[in-house]
Amino acid sequence: MKCDICGCKETYVKEHKHDFIIKGKKINFTSNRRFCKNCNNLVYDSKLDNDASKKAINLYNKKYAITKEEIIELRKKYNLSQELFSKIIGCTKKELVSCEKGNSILNDNYLIIIRNLINKPETIYTLIK
Ligand SMILES: [Zn+2]
Repeated sequence: MKCDICGCKETYVKEHKHDFIIKGKKINFTSNRRFCKNCNNLVYDSKLDNDASKKAINLYNKKYAITKEEIIELRKKYNLSQELFSKIIGCTKKELVSCEKGNSILNDNYLIIIRNLINKPETIYTLIK
């Protein structure tokens, strides 16, 4: 791994304070990131960068949306495949899979449907029809 800015190959990992803005909401957290020993700029590290973005998504989902665990639990409760469940809430299977992996946040329109299903489970039958 080397620094994109100065080309230095010596890097170190330290805890970094993040201030993310996701869909207009501030998400603050710390996670380990890689830095350049020479110029102290952030150096790309696929694993650490991926962990940081998952952490941010998880925090956002916990606070403002819905966690992957809640979605999986709801889907399993109805014993539905990802394919069928995504059809019922109106998103693509790809979007659902990515959300269940914790890689993305579902669009607000789908979140409303999911919240509704959690609060009023019987509405699933109208959606299936
Ligand atoms: Zn550098």
